[in-house]
Amino acid sequence: MRRYVAQLHSGIARAVPVRRTPYRRRAAAAASVLSAVPAQQAGTAHAFSAFDADLERGLPPGMAVLLVLPVLRDGKRGFRLRGVCCCGVLQDFPESAHPDIELANLVARSGIPPTKVIATMRRWSQNMTKLTTWLHERRCEHGDALQLMVWDETGYGIPWELFWLEAPPGSSWREGWLGGLVTMTRWLTINAAWSVVRDYATSHTCAGPVASFVADDMRHDDALLSRFASETIPGIRGLSKTLATGQPLGMVYVACHGKFESDEDDCRLGDVPLVMLEGGGRFGRLASAATFVFLNACHSGRLLAGDGTFADQAQRGFSEVFLRSGAAGVLATSGEVGDEEAHQMAGELLKLLCERPQMPVAAALRELRSVVAHLMPADLFDAEANEEQRRLLPLLYRFMYVYYGSPRTTVALAPCEGWA
Ligand SMILES: [Zn+2]
Repeated sequence: MRRYVAQLHSGIARAVPVRRTPYRRRAAAAASVLSAVPAQQAGTAHAFSAFDADLERGLPPGMAVLLVLPVLRDGKRGFRLRGVCCCGVLQDFPESAHPDIELANLVARSGIPPTKVIATMRRWSQNMTKLTTWLHERRCEHGDALQLMVWDETGYGIPWELFWLEAPPGSSWREGWLGGLVTMTRWLTINAAWSVVRDYATSHTCAGPVASFVADDMRHDDALLSRFASETIPGIRGLSKTLATGQPLGMVYVACHGKFESDEDDCRLGDVPLVMLEGGGRFGRLASAATFVFLNACHSGRLLAGDGTFADQAQRGFSEVFLRSGAAGVLATSGEVGDEEAHQMAGELLKLLCERPQMPVAAALRELRSVVAHLMPADLFDAEANEEQRRLLPLLYRFMYVYYGSPRTTVALAPCEGWA
């Protein structure tokens, strides 16, 4: 059941293969209160009072949090931002309308040409003037040490990694795509009574062997894991059982096809529906170790949010399932990613994490995004030029990877015998 983006848009004829179609009590309380605020009230100060409590504990040096909350005004959806920095700077932003910029829709068969995606994201970012100045100030304050966590509760699929961050005219600051300039991660509310959910601000080390499932038509990924002590998960349906009990794991790697639709029955990792993983019990091998989970499958990082009353419902998705079980980080995708790009991404990331074990996953991702961030249309109006459109795809694919977890988490996988 291999899926293809047969035509990215009418201008691209050649088929592009795609894969894949405690935290502490106070923080937990903050998150649950936030998620319990009805949409109509989400823009009021009340919605943020719980988050103020979270601020009391302070953020570690260099860390800033951007909270994105859904609001409903006169029947129209929108969102509201609150930015908080370690140095105590707190800013509320004006409400914005719900943008239709989900990459899963834009970079798809029925989507728009890459040149137009790029122009759209730059134009949308220009409108966000207050956010731009706040982010710029954070860079000025913390420089390269800045770690931004986007806590997006909207379910709108806003591609924050592809926010175009302008710099003041004449300044020495480089402008570009946020995910290539700044170390950034994501977070979401996880409701759990007895939580093994890890703190989003702490440094965790994902140490130990690897458990992997690689779909038959993605066997070239096996070679990427050969240097690590690893075990094979017998079929995607064996995922829950394999992860339930046993030796703690440093990494779970899943390479398969994925689907994600607004109807939850159509949200699948391989052929496993989301609800079966959600209801399959806790993954004990993630709770006993800090585990890095890499879901190299299409749409694996997207989130379902309840319709209409979305502000009082938790977001659901495959990344949430693993974070709930205690994963220290989940890397997943927000749309259909090209097969070759997915393979390359995994290869380059694992190589970087092995070569520089002190480098947090989030910093490695920034570096890998920055490698393709220079890809820009030679001519925005040359939308009919297939080669030009295809040349830009690696940029969009790579920025589709979203990472949930602490920006400080590192990975130290056990080598297999012979590599030690
Ligand atoms: Zn700060």
